[in-house]
Parts: sequence; C-alpha cells; structure tokens
Amino acid sequence: MRYVRRRLAAVTAALAVSVLNGTATSPAFADQRGTDKTSSATGYGGAVSTVDPEASAAAIEVLHDGGNAADAAVAAAATLGVTEPYSAGIGGGGYFVFYDAKRGRVGTIDGRETAPAVMPHDAFTDPATGQPYRFTPELVTSGVSVGVPGTPATWERALDRWGTVSLHDALEPAIDVATRGFEVDETFRQQTLDNKLRFEAFTSTSRLFLPGGDAPAVGSVLQNHDLAETYRLLAKQGTRGFYRGPLAAEIAATVQAPPKTPGTTLPVPVGHMTTADLAAYRVLDQAPAPVDYRGLDVYGMAPSSSGGTTVGEALNILDTFNLSEMSAPGALHHYLEASALAFADRGKYVGDPAFVEVPTAALTDPRFGKERSCQIDPLHAAEKPVAPGEVSSYDGVCPAAAATPADEKDTEDLSTTNLTVADKWGNVAEYTLTIEQTGGSGIVVPGRGFLLNNELTDFSTVYDPADPNRIEPGKRPRSSMSPTIILEDGKPFLALGSPGGSTIITTVLQTILNRVDLGMSISEAIAAPRASQRNTAQVAAEPEFITAYGSQLAPYGHELTPAGDAFTSAAEIGAATAIEFMPDGRMVAAAEPVRRGGGSAMVLKRSQ
Ligand code: GLU
Repeated sequence: MRYVRRRLAAVTAALAVSVLNGTATSPAFADQRGTDKTSSATGYGGAVSTVDPEASAAAIEVLHDGGNAADAAVAAAATLGVTEPYSAGIGGGGYFVFYDAKRGRVGTIDGRETAPAVMPHDAFTDPATGQPYRFTPELVTSGVSVGVPGTPATWERALDRWGTVSLHDALEPAIDVATRGFEVDETFRQQTLDNKLRFEAFTSTSRLFLPGGDAPAVGSVLQNHDLAETYRLLAKQGTRGFYRGPLAAEIAATVQAPPKTPGTTLPVPVGHMTTADLAAYRVLDQAPAPVDYRGLDVYGMAPSSSGGTTVGEALNILDTFNLSEMSAPGALHHYLEASALAFADRGKYVGDPAFVEVPTAALTDPRFGKERSCQIDPLHAAEKPVAPGEVSSYDGVCPAAAATPADEKDTEDLSTTNLTVADKWGNVAEYTLTIEQTGGSGIVVPGRGFLLNNELTDFSTVYDPADPNRIEPGKRPRSSMSPTIILEDGKPFLALGSPGGSTIITTVLQTILNRVDLGMSISEAIAAPRASQRNTAQVAAEPEFITAYGSQLAPYGHELTPAGDAFTSAAEIGAATAIEFMPDGRMVAAAEPVRRGGGSAMVLKRSQ
C-alpha cells in the first residue's frame, strides 16, 4: 500500500486527461456494442478489458444482467472464439486466475493442452528421413502439434467453481455474435492474409476463412454458423458434448488425418490424438505462485506456465533495487537484466510439474531473487545468455560467477489473447487463452467452426532427457502465459495479462514496473513502448522503444533490434489488458490504444 498510494494523485490526473481527450464512450452499455473501440474507461459496477468490442460488450451484458466476473469472463472468452478465432477458441487452452472476493483468495485453473497418451519422444522427427521436422512449415501446420484442448473444460470449471450462471447462459452472447456475424477489421484481414497459404491447405479452413478464395474484406460481415452450432451443443450437453461423442471423434480424426486440399504443397505431418485422450482431459485447480513486490502481493500462474515463476523471480530481483529513484535508462537496464536472469532459470528449471520436479518455491523465494540480483552490474549489461542460478543451495549472498551457457532458440510465436473482468462484488478474473500461433495449426475441424491449436510446438523441439520441457506423453508443454492479479492489503489493486508468446512475461513485467515504479497510470503503462530481453544477445524492441531509449541504453551494452517474426507483419510486443482498482471504488479498465488495432475497455457505469 505504502508504495502505490503515493502515486494516486498523479494517476488520477492522468486519467482525467485521458477521459477529456475523448477516449470515453457513451455511458449506456448497450451503446458500447459494435466496433466503437475505446482503450480506457473509468467507472463503477464492473469493468472489462479485451482486445475486441464484441467480447467486451458480451462481458458487460452479463455483468449488467447480474452475472459475476467469472460468468462475464467466460462469455467474453467465448465471444473472442468468434471474433478472434486465430488467437483463441475451444480448440486451444489457457490459464484462468480468479480473485474470489468472498473468500479473499486467489485461485487458478490450469487449462493447458496436453500431449496425446501415445505421443513418442521423437514425435517431432520425420520418420521418412530420421531428421527433425522444420519448425516451419512442418511443425506449425500439422496434426502432430495439436494438443488436447483445455478451453471448454476451463470454462466449465471456472463457472462451477466461481460462477453464478450455467455454461448455457454464458455462451449466449457468443452464439448471438457468431450467428449475426461481426465486422471484419484491418487486423482480422491481415491475420487472414498472413495465414493464407496455411488456410488454403485445408478444405475446412479455406471454406470458413477464405470465402471466395480470399481473406474477407475490411467492413464485410463474417458469420460462423458452424461455431454457433458447436456452442449450442456445448450449451446443451456441457463439455461432454466436446470431450466425448461425435465431436470428440471428429477432432481425433481431424488430427490423425487433416483435411488437406488436393494438391497442397504443405507437408502437414499427422498427429496421434485419440478419443481416449479427449475423454481423459482434465483441467487442474492450482495454487498460484505469489511474490511480494514492494508490499504488493503479486499472484501469477504456477507451472505448467512459466509465467508466474518468471515474472515473480524478476520482481524479486528488482525488489532489491530502488527503480523509482533511477533515471529511465537506469531502471530499464535493471529491468532487462533481471528479465534475462529469470529467463535463464525458466529454461533450466520449468516444465510440467506432473512430469519434472519444478523448484517453484525457490524460483519465487525473495532470497533466491536477492542472490540472483548480485549478477546485475548497474552500469554494464552482462554477456548473454547468462547462466541459470543454483536453486538447491542459495542464501541470498552473492555467489561466484557461473559459466556462460549456449544460446537457446525461442520458437514461441506472437499470438493469443487476454482479458480482464471485475464485478461489483469485487471479484476479478484474469484470463489468457490461446491456440498458440496466430491461426493455430491452421486446421478447422470440418463443419465445426473452430481451429485446432498447435500448442505442442511449445515443447522443446529436440528431445533431451535433461530438459524440463522435453516431450512426454500426457504432458503439458511449458507456457509463458502470465495472467496476474495484484493485491494490496488483501484487496485487488491491479489485474493484467497479455498475449505474445515468451514476450508475455516481459510485457506483464514491464507494465507492472511502469505502473508501480515509474509513475505511469495503468493506461500509460500499457501504451508505453516495450522491449523484451529473454536471455539473448540482442534485445527485441518496438521501434518506438528504440527511438526513445536506443542511444541511452547503448552505453550499458544493450543492443536493441526491432521486434517481429516471420509470421506477423507487425513489430509489436504484446497486447495487454488490465483493470486498476482505485481507493474510492472506481475501476479503471485499460486496453491497448494502438497495438493489434487497439483494444476495448468498458465499465458498467461510467464516471470521470
Ligand atoms: N503458446 C504460448 C504460450 O503458451 C502462447 C502463444 C502466444 O502468445 O504466442 O506461452
């Protein structure tokens, strides 16, 4: 409390400016439906931030009708399955973090995809050549990378555990959007074009997303009757309708024999998933991985995601420095270095705890963070990659420098979606969900209206028995998703998360630092340009970050390089959503003003 309250005057002033600048929408929630995008909204009674106005409107509708944050989060997620089908949907997985106001506790659901029971260690080796498949095009567009989806089971579990409405009711707004259709925007068209070659490779996918052989035009309306029908099936039968019966059989058949367009040149390795894998899928209720950062309690997702331990470790490292008294480049230097150290430990220690021993307690222990902080030279960037720390013996005292390990290739892609919802009772839902790459595996289950994930590409692609993230049957691949809820004196202060593969971790971390240490409002903290140091020689950064800080960070030895990859046309990092809870009871919903075409923040009752 001590720390954050001091900054409130500045925050309030900044928010007043953003509202006056016209980022506000009409107070009536009904008017918020449609394509009117606003990146900041302040008010009472409930709030939501997502990447999409239809999804935010669905959440507001549920809150307005008396539903709580869990209900509204599921409604928003299902709607994102319609309007953001390349980022998330029932063919994927995710992590759901919830602050239960009545119990004053944070709980989490691990809805990560699992590897099929018969997936061999050499699943990513081409049997024809004995050589590893290439990541692109073989692995990303394949049946072999499809994990057993966790998203439908996550929705059902979140509603059972914390919700007040049935899955049937929570799916209603999404069914409505899928039926009447949504307006295609620039981002959707561009994402379709980026995937055109892959989507053309499957009869089911091209039929749905390339009507007339082309990406839908900007401004056209895209309906998805197949998905509406699939949601109706779930509404009627619950998730049994997904994990068992005809739909389960169709999913397994699609993975084992993807519906390839005759003549396609893409190789499309087949997968191993069976109906038994679908029937056996379970989400996990998990304790969160909390750390204390400057008197705030930060609750992140424990493994199988590396999000909670990596954000948490970096915060523990940074807690030993007074960032708010440093120059901006000085604070950013410490941020980049702390992130590299935490990524080194992520790589060495984090995998699915059902299969490998993960030292979660050590990684989130402030004494371990203190010891790791010794590696940071206040004036010089360490040579990357930095070595991992020793979790079996640490005492908070500086150890001797360790040997430099080999550079690790990071193959995670930049997709996924995140949403934040709060209700009038004080409950908060923070939910990151994905189908991995933008467009997932590229394979739509024929006639069912949704894409299958390619999440198993998050396993290390080369099998090494010492690697915690090696392929094992039934295992969850390591994730970077970092849905985070921060409490102050036991009450919500901030909830946030982001998509972006392994840059999720740095986006969440940098946004927390921007808000807590660098005096920004939450909207400013999200809008600020980003850089991502994941223990590599160069720091990936947005062009605006390079312009603002490149020359100031060069004397420290940081080499900045434009972000972006082979799959996406934008040099952006992350697409965060957040809600901040003000001491006077107001909620500030914040979304991206620009990235991914801008997000959508809404509140039930708007105030200044
Ligand atoms: N597969 C990634 C993860 O679990 C998320 C996908 C992305 O954001 O690119 O960390």
